[in-house]
Amino acid sequence: MSEKKIPLIWQIGIGFVLGIVAGAMLGDKVQYVEPVGSAFLKLLKMLIVPLVFSSLVVGAASIGDPRDLGRIGLKTLFFYLATTAVAIVIGLVLGNLMQPGVGLAIGEGLKFEAKEAPSIKSVLLNLFPDNPLKAAVDGQMLQIIVFALFLGVSAVLAKDKGAPLVSFFDSMAETMYKLTGIVMMVAPYGVFALIADTVSKYGLSVLAPFAKVIIAVYVGCALQLLIVYSSLIMTFVKRSPLWFIKGIREAGLTAFVTRSSAAALPVTIRNARENLGISEKVTSFVLPLGATINMDGTALYQGVCALFVAQAYGLSLGMGAQLNILLTATLASIGTAGVPGAGLIMLTLVLTAVGLPLEGAALVAGIDAVLDMARTSINVIGDACVAAIVASSEGEKL
Ligand code: ASP
Repeated sequence: MSEKKIPLIWQIGIGFVLGIVAGAMLGDKVQYVEPVGSAFLKLLKMLIVPLVFSSLVVGAASIGDPRDLGRIGLKTLFFYLATTAVAIVIGLVLGNLMQPGVGLAIGEGLKFEAKEAPSIKSVLLNLFPDNPLKAAVDGQMLQIIVFALFLGVSAVLAKDKGAPLVSFFDSMAETMYKLTGIVMMVAPYGVFALIADTVSKYGLSVLAPFAKVIIAVYVGCALQLLIVYSSLIMTFVKRSPLWFIKGIREAGLTAFVTRSSAAALPVTIRNARENLGISEKVTSFVLPLGATINMDGTALYQGVCALFVAQAYGLSLGMGAQLNILLTATLASIGTAGVPGAGLIMLTLVLTAVGLPLEGAALVAGIDAVLDMARTSINVIGDACVAAIVASSEGEKL
């Protein structure tokens, strides 16, 4: 029998659709397929630290001049912040227009354990690892990024003596990249299992009372993609939005089912290099940073949810309070880890900032996984969008 090769993205798509059907039918039996999803997630996570570290060292070394690194860094940060701010505005506008929390009866006795928000000083000090190996073991992304950048630049400064180190990491980065391709071969099954598990846990009955928040977040994410990213791609990269969306869809889907920017990162890097043609130099720097600090979907979600909570408690938020949300949600999204549910923890920070009841977060908690899928997708697609803009501004032909 001749074997026809179905493209991977179709296989993943089929896994996704079958997963929804299976999740709706399997009920408790979903526990038998769930381990396949967990295994896929673990395989992706296994890649993150070695892939990011090695390719970042090589990326920093290939940029070489610290001034060039600074220029690329500044451009990246600018676009990350700008797209995040626009996302929150979209979230706030939708929250005002759709009024998702109006008419919702608030249950008494909601409890939510808020975590204390870290201070700016500790966030900044935390950028530097006191032990880089420990940072790697703990998966402290920002610390890993900072150390890899230092190492790459220093290797260039060390000239001949530093060269073997760069080629060692180059070899490691390519090997990890190949390994990502191998892990992706099981993606259709992993996606199937992960989505089946989510659907069986969050059936329609759980979601129905919150339909408006869910719709607001999903519509907002669609607008961010179809209007904001699409026009940025057309303006700065001079390519069609379809080219971009097609190029990044595997990563978007992986983010959707894993609900983790960090776990999707190997796929994002691969899509950006192979489908969008962005250089290793740019992807290795811009994407790990994005998976750690750029969370447009999360920011948008915080805008919608802050208004949702205010409306649900019958409180009204004026312009000043909404501006405050814009500021805190931008900062909160930078501090949000790229792991499932992190945005919900940061939502408490935003609620506190505008004086809303923290228990409001408990209202959202029940449906958070479903919101997390859309926002994480947008988080990683936003990273790739900025990577494309930066690459093109550095003269790369995409
Ligand atoms: N799950 C999101 C991410 O990994 C973060 C969040 O919870 O908003 O990008």
